[in-house]
Amino acid sequence: MRLEGIGSDLPKPTVLGSPAYGDSANPADEGEVAKQPVGDDSVGRMQFMLTMRRRGIGDAAVLRALDEVPREHFVGPEFQDAAYADQALPIACGQTISQPYVVAYMTEQLDVQPQHKVLEVGTGSGYQAAILSRLVHEVVSIERYRTLADVARARMETLGYQNVDIRSGDGLAGAPDKAPFDRIMVTAAAETVPDVLVEQLADDGLLLLPLGPHGGIQRIVKVTKSGGELQQEELLGVRFVPLLPGQAREL
Ligand code: SAH
Repeated sequence: MRLEGIGSDLPKPTVLGSPAYGDSANPADEGEVAKQPVGDDSVGRMQFMLTMRRRGIGDAAVLRALDEVPREHFVGPEFQDAAYADQALPIACGQTISQPYVVAYMTEQLDVQPQHKVLEVGTGSGYQAAILSRLVHEVVSIERYRTLADVARARMETLGYQNVDIRSGDGLAGAPDKAPFDRIMVTAAAETVPDVLVEQLADDGLLLLPLGPHGGIQRIVKVTKSGGELQQEELLGVRFVPLLPGQAREL
């Protein structure tokens, strides 16, 4: 079984430091820098797309969304050089932006349609929400750290992604005002399938979540609802940060 490293034990990025924007301390550089868009790393991006294909991501719409969303906008300045590496990276509040392959894999497994309304629990950087926003009608994403929610919301505005509603709060309560959802994706590890989320799932809906012990190995589990009946299927082995109850008290 392949284990995807996404959690607190994530490997240290191999390339750190030098942001991709150049050295603005030298005014002579600025003309040069201005010609190149922030974070332009076309070779890195090409390799990134090849890696996704080689690892088995085949859905054309998912690949298009991965190609379209600039991951460098979702990582801090110190990680610009690693934005297109296939690894999880640290973000604020002790959380992580998931490994791109896992984002791609979960997006593919979510089996979305353009008319869908999707709930994400665990906004983090907003990257997964941004990918989903390219594929569906509407995304609601909930994050327990207000800081992370605020930053992710600003990123959506910068990128002009207008169909994402980012909320700070407890994702375990879902979003009753917008329920039912065609699809729900949880991007933090749950020890049990949250009942409230199952209730907010539409009939013929699909809920995807990492299920298993906090700090251990979890499995992506696909819960499908059909005619009121639930079915559960176990997929990839993963490691996610924990899904914790309640809104974070600080930050
Ligand atoms: N999807 C994110 C990565 C998620 S990391 C991305 O694309 O970057 C998991 C996130 O879930 C963390 O930010 C954590 O704070 C959040 N989280 C954990 N429990 C939560 C809960 N009950 N409600 C909302 N967010 C939660």
